[in-house]
Amino acid sequence: MGTIQIMQILVTGGAGFIGGHLAQRFAADGHDVVVLDNRDPFYDLDIKQHNVDAGQEAARNSDGSYEFIEGDVRDAELVTDLVADADYVYHQAAQAGVRPSVKNPRKYDEVNVNGTLNLLDACRDEGIERFVMASSSSVYGKPQYLPYDEQHPTTPVSPYGASKLAAERYACAYSEVYDLSTVALRYFTVYGPRMRPNMAISNFVSRCHNGEPPVIYGDGTQTRDFTYIEDVIDANMTLLHEDAADGKAVNIGSTDNIEIKTLATEIRDQIDPDLDLVYEERHDADAEHTHAATDRAEELLGYDPDHTIREGVAKFIDWYRDNRDWYEPLVRQS
Ligand code: NAD
Repeated sequence: MGTIQIMQILVTGGAGFIGGHLAQRFAADGHDVVVLDNRDPFYDLDIKQHNVDAGQEAARNSDGSYEFIEGDVRDAELVTDLVADADYVYHQAAQAGVRPSVKNPRKYDEVNVNGTLNLLDACRDEGIERFVMASSSSVYGKPQYLPYDEQHPTTPVSPYGASKLAAERYACAYSEVYDLSTVALRYFTVYGPRMRPNMAISNFVSRCHNGEPPVIYGDGTQTRDFTYIEDVIDANMTLLHEDAADGKAVNIGSTDNIEIKTLATEIRDQIDPDLDLVYEERHDADAEHTHAATDRAEELLGYDPDHTIREGVAKFIDWYRDNRDWYEPLVRQS
């Protein structure tokens, strides 16, 4: 059996949901992980502490190591210092959230675009192996056809989507002009343990556990590709050794696309089938439909997501029940 080559991996946003799982997996696999995160108070910091704890524990139980650096991707000097020691950079840090970006677009530009440029400059100068960044289905905007493939026009309808598109375009341009290996993974609504508390699935699960009907914004016919966190992490892991996606943006979605009201019904039925569904006014910045074509991910990364929505939701509900004491209050207050 071959031995795993130990890598130094910088995970930005590693106290967040996706970055937290990534750092945990890298540490569990025996790599040396450095997390850079400013613990942005976008949602409750207790969850971020659980993410950091999970990474530290993974490192204790493996030959890996885990270091947490509290700092900002907008700090070019700090970023340069950290990238100098890294073989790979997995850039997950971002000002996330479509709706809040409408209130404060400039902050999204500063963090998501300029922060990414700081990292790209450092990666180019230090000659790292690969820069992998989290992009988003929000780059597509209103669908001209579905499912979105990567050739679909990119016309984001929120400042958040515009900032993610600018960031990934820079990453692809750096690959072209500086021969830096970069990949942008366009995530489609990721969910799972320790997910951001202000997202539909955590809200539905929490309300159903408390005998309250799930609240749907709009008529519930909006569709999403809910992507289970483990499938997202697997796609990222592939990029430790696979260079076929260099310079490209790649969709990372799920196996089944569902309507929000079907999701709410599925969760309600698994927890408390007697509950009704409640409908409230839809927010304009929310996408009507997102649906990923994942052919490129399959072809270039061998992407083959393991979780149907039913399986992923069941896993999340199990986790929720085991962690209800600390997680539920955070969902309730979000
Ligand atoms: P998250 O908010 O849980 O994690 C982001 C992390 O980045 C947070 O811990 C935050 O403290 C950190 N951060 C924010 N600003 C920072 C700064 N200036 N410097 C350093 N750290 C900073 O979000 P997430 O759901 O884990 O998303 C991770 C990435 O995936 C983001 O880039 C997001 O845009 C992208 N994404 C997520 C989803 C999803 O469904 N969760 C979908 C599409 C794209």
